[in-house]
Amino acid sequence: MEIRYNEKLKKLPPYLFIEIDRKKKEAIDRGADIISLGVGDPDIPTPEHIVKSMQEAVAKPFNHQYPFGTGLLSYKKAVIDWYKNRFNVDLNSDEICALIGSKEGIGHIHLGFINPGDTVLIPEPGYPVYNTGTIFTDGIPYFMPLLEKNGFLPDLTSIPQDVVKKAKLIFINYPNNPTAAVAPKEFYIRLIEFAKKNNIIVAADAAYSEIYYDENDKPLSFLEFSGAKEVGVEFHSLSKTYNMTGWRIGWVCGNKDIVAGIAKVKDNYDSGVFQAIQEAAITALSSSQKCVEDARKIYKERRDVLVEGLKKIGWEVSLPKASFYVWAKIPKGYTSSQVVSKLLEDVSIVCTPGNGMGKSGEGYVRFALTVGVSRIKEALKRISKINW
Ligand SMILES: *Cc1c(COP(=O)(O)O)cnc(C)c1O
Repeated sequence: MEIRYNEKLKKLPPYLFIEIDRKKKEAIDRGADIISLGVGDPDIPTPEHIVKSMQEAVAKPFNHQYPFGTGLLSYKKAVIDWYKNRFNVDLNSDEICALIGSKEGIGHIHLGFINPGDTVLIPEPGYPVYNTGTIFTDGIPYFMPLLEKNGFLPDLTSIPQDVVKKAKLIFINYPNNPTAAVAPKEFYIRLIEFAKKNNIIVAADAAYSEIYYDENDKPLSFLEFSGAKEVGVEFHSLSKTYNMTGWRIGWVCGNKDIVAGIAKVKDNYDSGVFQAIQEAAITALSSSQKCVEDARKIYKERRDVLVEGLKKIGWEVSLPKASFYVWAKIPKGYTSSQVVSKLLEDVSIVCTPGNGMGKSGEGYVRFALTVGVSRIKEALKRISKINW
């Protein structure tokens, strides 16, 4: 029998990190000593107290059954307290839905709100899942370029009126992957005004809200701003904050009708998040946050070494305020893909081509700070030897 795939699967661009992983494996098979600054997956293990909490939770028969709807009440309570403490925003439990990683909700929100032909406003370069969900629902993506001259913020005023009229959903992501930009408060105010005026749901992806480098200038939440709850939701993840990418847990919060729409999709697709993981997440959110502080210190040291090192060898990079990425301008005369290939083939360094996450990323590569300082130093030594 000939196996025929859904046309939508064929429309998907190859999933970027799978491609990079494949090339990396090929290099490892060749015996290369790879330094991987490619995928944004923390190398630091999950803090012990969270692992221990999971070990205990997994032994409880209560957790062996189907999880409860939109998440344990105790999980939501932990989210409510964490949010209040971090952003001074009040949430109710019907404004929260637990997710199997925030990617799950980000990929499913379209099913709740996008009809065929509806437009989805998507930042580019950006996280590929915003577009995946759009393709799966026969929505039409409109890509908003994130340009350095605009502080890597989308220029909402440059979106054509006919596009705005058909738009139902807008994604934003600050601290941003891949540009490492953060959004100022004026941006959120403009965004809420724009969304309200044009009846567009805001989906704010805040996966990196806790990976910041200045205690006195922490990333903001979209929900801190007046009117935000009328127009949108924010996605949060424990993956980057607590080094829990493999565990699959996050949440969406904000407008209760939007949350209900996502929850309805989930009711029909999955049956929620394994409760033992929710219990471990409660431990993560409600215990001392020293482990997060420690992680920030580690990333900060790596960031400083990499940025200073790249500058010293003539690269044009600015010091990111947040996220664990460094968004570097590539040497002149090359494309992003050529630079990535050269780094991999000549000096066995893996990084992400800027244009792989959207065409406005051309001219940049993304380095993830997910290896130790000594390996970053080794990478710099190797990069300095390349003849451009
Ligand atoms: C890592 C990441 C996520 C989500 O990760 P989950 O593990 O699914 O919670 C979401 N958005 C961006 C931009 C990311 O980089």
